Amino acid sequence: MQNLSEKLLNTSQKLTSLGLNVGTAGNCSVRINEAAFLITPSGVATDAMLATSMVRMQFDGSVEPNKTPSSEWRFHRDILHHRPEINAVVHTHSMFATTLACLHVEVPAFHYMIAVAGGDNIRCAPYALFGSQALSDAALAALFERKACLLGNHGMIALGRDLDEALAVAQEVEQLCEQYWRILQISPAKLLTETQMQAVFQQFKGYGKWAK
Ligand code: 13P
Ligand code: ZN
Repeated sequence: MQNLSEKLLNTSQKLTSLGLNVGTAGNCSVRINEAAFLITPSGVATDAMLATSMVRMQFDGSVEPNKTPSSEWRFHRDILHHRPEINAVVHTHSMFATTLACLHVEVPAFHYMIAVAGGDNIRCAPYALFGSQALSDAALAALFERKACLLGNHGMIALGRDLDEALAVAQEVEQLCEQYWRILQISPAKLLTETQMQAVFQQFKGYGKWAK
């Protein structure tokens, strides 16, 4: 448990040091067991967080005393509840993902690495108020059969079997969003076909840390 809190703190710190989050923006969570998960506290900048700041929440929404979980606990809870293969959730306001999210752009298969996000596109959920159930519902729909989505006028969510994978997906999605943003300055991208992407999914089954 102490280890998991430290790991969550470490992930939060990496999101900041990689430039994926600034100040109090973003949050992350990790499953403890079938009844509970750990989530970062609300409104606390990463450099002011300690392992003991992490908040234990039950899936029924109850929280340990005297602690305030991230305002986005609903989407963290709902994703971990509805996606049993996922054990960690990362949310960022990173520059390029957020830029495309403010344009409500769906990222298509312009590069084969989009497979990292679980399919041949990264959807953008419609805008909903931060912390709301409407945002959680929209995020869950945009994440159907995916490990990442954009959140309209807000940021992105990345998922993983563990915190390392969720962080790696977030980094890769940010990179893809920067590349796609650059492409859009020049002309429409030349997209990969469904057949080409099917071959990529096959190849990924045995590819390094992304292997299924
Ligand atoms: P919290 O500080 O409550 O986690 O909120 C940050 C955020 O990104 C809300 O969407
Ligand atoms: Zn946010």
